[in-house]
Amino acid sequence: MIDPFGRHVTYLRVSVTDRCDFRCVYCMAEDMTFLPKRDLLSLEELDRVCTAFVEKGVRKIRLTGGEPLVRKGIMTLVASLGRHLRSGAMEELTLTTNGSQLARHAAELALHGVRRINVSVDTLDDAKFKAITRWGELARVKDGIRAAQAAGLAIKINAVALKGVNDAEIPEMIRWAHGEGMDLTLIETMPLGDIDGDRTDQYLPLSVVRAGLMDRFTLEDITYKTGGPARYVRVKETGGRLGFITPLTHNFCESCNRVRLTCTGTLYMCLGQEDAADLRAPLRASEGNDLLNAAIDEAIGRKPKGHDFVIDRRRNKPAVSRHMSVTGG
Ligand code: SAM
Ligand code: SF4
Repeated sequence: MIDPFGRHVTYLRVSVTDRCDFRCVYCMAEDMTFLPKRDLLSLEELDRVCTAFVEKGVRKIRLTGGEPLVRKGIMTLVASLGRHLRSGAMEELTLTTNGSQLARHAAELALHGVRRINVSVDTLDDAKFKAITRWGELARVKDGIRAAQAAGLAIKINAVALKGVNDAEIPEMIRWAHGEGMDLTLIETMPLGDIDGDRTDQYLPLSVVRAGLMDRFTLEDITYKTGGPARYVRVKETGGRLGFITPLTHNFCESCNRVRLTCTGTLYMCLGQEDAADLRAPLRASEGNDLLNAAIDEAIGRKPKGHDFVIDRRRNKPAVSRHMSVTGG
């Protein structure tokens, strides 16, 4: 699949549920209304759409959400997508998780061919963790991380940089993650969806974080790339990798290789744009995949050149009205 700007689309992110057992302050309001279950694609339908994408050249699938591991029966989907790894049609199957259910699922993920996962941890302080996630428990996430390590999964920690919340802790998080053999990626908050509160209060530019880190660490530029928007450095003192995802201050759209499928079968060609294509109707209209394939081709044909995120201080409105839990980040 090649889009109008010559970019090969080889990466599909799939939000398998909009539900979550946490309520992170930058992601959701506390009293979120979730989609009625009947609107969701079944696990079989998710497999069918993913397989159509693999047949069209997608080499990597990331399951996300909401919290992917709270979707009932999710391991059935992981097991069935694992066949594309074994056949060589797909290179990587991975997921982004908050880690709360990881202790139960880590061994099985590894069994089905998952090799690397991303776990989101914004702080190492129990009370702050509770304040940020509202409903989460850090000890449980750490248990999940240990189980994943024991199962042989490589782990990347994702941390959202939050002004006045975890900024002072970032050096400690670097030492912790790297000490455990995990990469760490810092993410700027993105203006997606209404939350209870003011985003301009939370926004912390990573250029500021990076400048602060340079007083304590030697950051060496490296060419390591995962095909995503993160730019990596090696921290000389720890030997570990540190990534920066800066959607608001750095434009990475020119090398974008991804599209995003929601749990209702809507395909977003760009995280920062409203334009979308419905794949559920063509999927359900017939047993064969002709209509589905045509809808995918048509959607890829209008993948936009880039996003226009901006945290608007005057309007204080999200640039994109849907929540991150719908498209999965
Ligand atoms: N529940 C899983 C988790 O937290 O890892 C997967 C879904 S979550 C939406 C994916 C990632 O998006 C997490 O690392 C989370 O911290 C990040 N995220 C959520 N809302 C965000 C926002 N408004 N700006 C930047 N990152 C955000
Ligand atoms: Fe849930 Fe992940 Fe959003 Fe936190 S960031 S509320 S864990 S979906």
